[in-house]
Amino acid sequence: MLEKVYVGVDIGGTAMKLGICNANGELLHVFEGPTETDQGTDRILGNIVKYARQVVAESPFEWEHVAGVGVGIPGFMDFEKGLIKSASNLPLNNVPLKDFLQSELGKPVRINNDANVAALGEAWGGAGRGVSSVVCYTLGTGVGGGIVVGGRLIEGFTGMAGELGHMAIIPDLEAIQCGCGKMGCLETVSSATGILRMARDAVGRGDRTSLAELETLTAKDVIDAAKNGDEVAQRIVNRAAYYIGKSMAVVAIVVNPARFIVGGGVSKAGEFLLSQIREAFYKFAQDRATEGVDIVAAALGNNAGIVGAAGLMRDL
Ligand SMILES: [Zn+2]
Repeated sequence: MLEKVYVGVDIGGTAMKLGICNANGELLHVFEGPTETDQGTDRILGNIVKYARQVVAESPFEWEHVAGVGVGIPGFMDFEKGLIKSASNLPLNNVPLKDFLQSELGKPVRINNDANVAALGEAWGGAGRGVSSVVCYTLGTGVGGGIVVGGRLIEGFTGMAGELGHMAIIPDLEAIQCGCGKMGCLETVSSATGILRMARDAVGRGDRTSLAELETLTAKDVIDAAKNGDEVAQRIVNRAAYYIGKSMAVVAIVVNPARFIVGGGVSKAGEFLLSQIREAFYKFAQDRATEGVDIVAAALGNNAGIVGAAGLMRDL
């Protein structure tokens, strides 16, 4: 009998990353090629087909081994129909991607958004391996999220389940407007963008901080300064961590996951950040919703997307 493998495709604005996973969520082979976004819709679609065949051709597997192809895309889509409604920074709006790829590749195809797919990747083959219910936070430019319960991705009625960055958790008096148009979303504070904004505000106010001496400022600078004892930077990082932890207490009472996984660029702060998140989580969460629950760092880094995209096909 042929070993079944699953192809995962992670489509970004500049590059497409592809991988082959086995039934245990182990990443066996990877391939990367340019998306060629500036060449338009047809070129991008053609590249997905070309690279999917190429990742298999370069691997020890044959096309017959492939049980299905999963695709993660930044944007909003109808998961059931496999129709991209609007893609972020890619000319793929209103593209029936699933139908197109199924007819071109002759394999079952599923699509989902990049945050959900990254969460599924961590749940299946990363820091959530062996745990059936996990919730992932990705702390990057924004705050992404994904919820896996009983091994299944929770998509919700209109695909909005797991959009954790838009949880309205910042108190009204402190709330600012989010990129989504609403007030007080988690990502206005707990993303790299939020951390940077708070740091610029502090410098602009004239707070005594080493950050004022830097010519260009990044979220990493703020985290490094906090680690080095800068009190203003510490307050900023703690505020970011506090609202992540507080939002987890809310999620814990809704979903009651066994594990929270924290990934994305900001999570490179490591235990320094995680310990502050845990402190807020335990402060606000119900005891029974925290029993045996852990908050850990993501394990797959940039490969979470391809593993999770392959994971969309794992029950075939
Ligand atoms: Zn928002």
